[in-house]
Amino acid sequence: MTIERLVNPHIRELQPYVPGKPIEEVERELGIAGSVKLASNENPLGPSPRALAALGNDLADIHRYPDGACFVLRARLAERLGVGQDQLVFGCGADEVLELLVKTFLAPGDEVVMPWPSFAMYPIVVRGMGGVPVRVPLDADLDHDLPAMADAVSERTKIVFVCNPNNPTGTSIGAAQMADFVARLSDDVVLVIDEAYFEFVRRSDFPDSLALLAERPATLVLRTFSKIYGLAGLRVGYGIGSAELIGFLERARHPFNVNRLAEAAAVAALDDDEHAERTRALNAAGIDFLTRELEALGCRVWPSDANFVLVETGEPGTADALLREGVIVRPMGGFGLPDHIRISIGMSEENEKLVKALQRIRQRAAIPEPRS
Ligand code: PMP
Repeated sequence: MTIERLVNPHIRELQPYVPGKPIEEVERELGIAGSVKLASNENPLGPSPRALAALGNDLADIHRYPDGACFVLRARLAERLGVGQDQLVFGCGADEVLELLVKTFLAPGDEVVMPWPSFAMYPIVVRGMGGVPVRVPLDADLDHDLPAMADAVSERTKIVFVCNPNNPTGTSIGAAQMADFVARLSDDVVLVIDEAYFEFVRRSDFPDSLALLAERPATLVLRTFSKIYGLAGLRVGYGIGSAELIGFLERARHPFNVNRLAEAAAVAALDDDEHAERTRALNAAGIDFLTRELEALGCRVWPSDANFVLVETGEPGTADALLREGVIVRPMGGFGLPDHIRISIGMSEENEKLVKALQRIRQRAAIPEPRS
């Protein structure tokens, strides 16, 4: 008897998420050193110094279970966001909040409408519950095709995902477009607005998704401490919703899903406005630099409100070629965009290293191979 026969069919057929490889592994495989990783949308400045100090203070207490309610983090964040404490749910990354959401709302066969390309975990968590991902292609500008997404909602739809700004394109939805979409959306579906990159947004007409919560209770906004706060390795993210919706997600949650160190670091990072501001400034300068330099090399750089840019290089294989130059970026072939790469914004020297590497690749391609 094989184990496979016993596995739930929707798990058997699941393709696991492929994360960016750790830098050490890539270097070992290629026998190189000194490479830079611009592949996982991490904070190049590192964690907030305040978070590091808080971790030091908390280390001696890790024999104690964490506070399962995230009492301190909940109070601070509720105050900062201007929402009730019962409007927040915390998870082991925003990833876990996604899991709680599908566990709470999806039954096998239920449909979930999502933009595509978008965050690769959406179809995975949906399939993991036996749900059916309904992928709606982005439009020609790689923006959400919101009218097509509204059309894709059927009586079988339980959840609709919006990713704003969208990963991997960096493109964002404005307030007017979002309002039109919400007006068309049935009240019978849960709307998830994934704002993992919220703190990097530069457009002035970005939608106020928290204002929507009062008007549309079946809405969940997702945010994370992995990006601007630089705590990706500790894993803490959160959802903001109506007290009613959050109450159901709380039923599906494990009691100690946010670890002690993660909570302590998140509380400290939340207060570190200086670190967040430095990160934002570094990111904005990096986007502007890469856009200018890569456009000068003939690439198309998509406008980004996040901490990465999507780049059409015009030829496949650029991510591999960059890897050999010691620069790790994310290939986009899995999204059907083989001539695109996603570049996370790094420190200025890392961004420069990437540009120089691409220049070298371009020069080599322009010189005909010597005949043998
Ligand atoms: N949503 C989006 C759009 C993301 O890009 C990510 C991280 N890559 C997440 C959610 C999950 O973030 P985390 O689990 O690190 O909080």
